[in-house]
Amino acid sequence: MTGSTTTPQTTAHALTEREREALAAVPGELFIAGRWLPAAGGARFPVLDPATGEVLCEVADADRDDALDALTAAHEAQPAWQATPPRERSEILRRAYQLLVDRTDELALLMTMEMGKPLAEAAAEIAYAAEFFRWFAEEAVRIDGGYTTAPDGASRFLVLHQPVGPCVLVTPWNFPMAMGTRKIGPAIAAGCTMVLKPAEQTPLCALALTDILAQAGLPDGVLNVVTTSRPGEVVEPMLRDGRARKLSFTGSTQVGRLLLAQAADKVLRTSMELGGNAPFLVFDDADLDAAVEGAMAAKMRNIGEACTAANRFLVQRGVADEFARRLAERMAALKMGRGTEPDVVVGPLIDAAGRDKVTELVADAVAGGANVLTGGTALDGPGTFYPATVLTGVPAGARIGREEIFGPVAAISAFDTEDEAIAAANDTEYGLVSYVYTRDLARSLRVAERLDAGMIGLNKGVVSNPAAPFGGVKQSGLGREGGRVGIDEFLETKYVAIPAP
Ligand code: NAP
Repeated sequence: MTGSTTTPQTTAHALTEREREALAAVPGELFIAGRWLPAAGGARFPVLDPATGEVLCEVADADRDDALDALTAAHEAQPAWQATPPRERSEILRRAYQLLVDRTDELALLMTMEMGKPLAEAAAEIAYAAEFFRWFAEEAVRIDGGYTTAPDGASRFLVLHQPVGPCVLVTPWNFPMAMGTRKIGPAIAAGCTMVLKPAEQTPLCALALTDILAQAGLPDGVLNVVTTSRPGEVVEPMLRDGRARKLSFTGSTQVGRLLLAQAADKVLRTSMELGGNAPFLVFDDADLDAAVEGAMAAKMRNIGEACTAANRFLVQRGVADEFARRLAERMAALKMGRGTEPDVVVGPLIDAAGRDKVTELVADAVAGGANVLTGGTALDGPGTFYPATVLTGVPAGARIGREEIFGPVAAISAFDTEDEAIAAANDTEYGLVSYVYTRDLARSLRVAERLDAGMIGLNKGVVSNPAAPFGGVKQSGLGREGGRVGIDEFLETKYVAIPAP
């Protein structure tokens, strides 16, 4: 079998009127202290359409001075914001939730244009992103405390939770709306001000989101946004400044490590959502239909450009060939193209570097003896397309088993025993999510307990949910986003000692 996906148009695309309108609606400036401003140095950088390589528009390119101005605004806004009644903070989030939902179509189009994912997935991300605002609107009014008696009865402990203070938020391009709301939501709920630095490839979603929050009534200075092509120059001074009290980062482990070191200087609170290398285990006793369905979701959500993407398929030998055959059949049928075209599932990868990395990983696996069941060759052209691909017989030690693929490639290897599968699954410095398919209850629980991961998809190919604690162990990160604990990342615990009355 070889790839049968349609060849997409990878060159010029005349923007439609709706696309032009969606772009025109985004303020392409920095947002500091409630005002849309050009970068102090007047610089701008282009935003590209990954399906064509064409420039969609330009946005302000912040430098160090802009970043420090944004931090000043956040710092000055902090006292009044933390004194704002929780119900008011909650209502702002609830209004922003509704605006996101009401504008789903326009925002999804914007996301598809700058990031590449198909429109249906972009709309699903807007819904997912909005849910973080609804969830944290509900949490804002439930920040609790305590009053307890010391063990010796001689004193009382009053425990309260207060906002951490001004936060620096750094987000990636792959979920450009949801990775913003997953941080901004709990920060607003907790009473923190913030400076957001979105990814260079996807500033438009962040700017549109900022506009929505301003319309929802967020006071000036609470959220400040600095778009930039010089992330190091902008983020480091804020982390080393002393007025920021927290860093919340989502991105690669490599950049995360660097920022952790910078944050150590002023001992900042940190929340780090980093890379993954998710194993997807299929046992002989699995429901194979469900496993293939789950594999499609775990692999193809976001064109494979997700930290939660199944990176290594480990399939028990008795079902390995059948699983691979069925998966390849499904993958080969997926339509590739610009995400605005009907029925497209495989949009472009984010950029040429992303496409080249996938090409290298596949070439390395094939050189080591892997077989290509479908796909396997990148498309030429300024549009950065790579087809849905299935590899079998991926050798132990191949780069594709150690590094994040971040593309639509399913790499399958066979195993014999449960112990062997768990050892292989855990043989990585990452520990974000693992997927397990089995119908044996005892095995489900045994394997879930033994896997080194912050999240387990048990007979389920998608784990993300705003009401659940998202995060990883090992080098996949620190802390959790979403769920009941998501707001804790933005709160400090204070204890007041009182003599017994
Ligand atoms: P990335 O290269 O680490 O970039 C993430 C963010 O950090 C971007 O805003 C980037 O800005 C910024 N950045 C890069 N270098 C920096 C520096 N020296 N100083 C300060 N900021 C810097 O990651 P990405 O390619 O955007 O996203 C993909 C990665 O994110 C994958 O590893 C994926 O697994 C991970 N991810 C994790 C989760 C999770 O929840 N665990 C969720 C989504 C994605 P520029 O855009 O300007 O480079």
